[in-house]
Amino acid sequence: MPLHPAEQAAPVPPRGRRKVQTPAAPDAATRAVALEIHRRLCAEYGCPVAYFHALPPLDELVSSLLSHRTKNRDSARAFQGLRAAFPDWEAVRDAPVAAVERAIAGATWPEAKAPALQRTLRAITERRGGLDLSHLEGMPEAKAAEWLASLPGVGPKTAAAVLSFSTLRGRALPVDSHHHRVAQRLGLIPRSLAVGPAHAVLAALLPAEWDAQQVYDNHQVMMRHGQRCCFFHGPACGRCVLRDLCPEGQARLERSA
Ligand code: SF4
Repeated sequence: MPLHPAEQAAPVPPRGRRKVQTPAAPDAATRAVALEIHRRLCAEYGCPVAYFHALPPLDELVSSLLSHRTKNRDSARAFQGLRAAFPDWEAVRDAPVAAVERAIAGATWPEAKAPALQRTLRAITERRGGLDLSHLEGMPEAKAAEWLASLPGVGPKTAAAVLSFSTLRGRALPVDSHHHRVAQRLGLIPRSLAVGPAHAVLAALLPAEWDAQQVYDNHQVMMRHGQRCCFFHGPACGRCVLRDLCPEGQARLERSA
């Protein structure tokens, strides 16, 4: 059973000793390896990958907020629960929190997600004068990501998901836990780099001329590799198409030889 987010919070070091992660810009060799990894994984899983959502940005934001540490099937049920229980997102924002919590009971931690979702919707209303994200259309992705990530409850992954998965179809790279683990094992990012700051480093590895579909493909194939081969426990290095590029895989194979 997954831990409640409050149980997973990392201890905060005393003020003045907090470690600030400042990853260096990726070098040319790492960028070349990242491209080769992308090429092989696209051959393995098939690119271009069809977009799985075509939701308006606000719908995608709600969907992403519900999906945190929740199986896709359960977050989809929670999203449908909200849609069935309320006529629009304004009604979700203004409802008693218990009613929202009931509607998303299918997601993990509805008691935390219901008030968090309402806080996010209220913040958008305050900043935009209504529940409206139309200003993100045509905005440069970096600025749009920054605006989204400034909302309460929205981090780099949710911001990138809204930009990439919604009808905005932006050039943004969400990094989930599978993607993050695979990138660490392959040496694309340092082991110590948390998933939040990993977004910028992994995005910087991709060619600037790639379009939104190619960046989305990269997210999808890295995630699929984590789901289907580079498992959290017992990665299948022996059948991995990346094993000659992977320091972790080579070390594991040597140990088991
Ligand atoms: S070689 Fe092993 S550790 Fe490396 S990416 Fe493949 S499955 Fe993961």
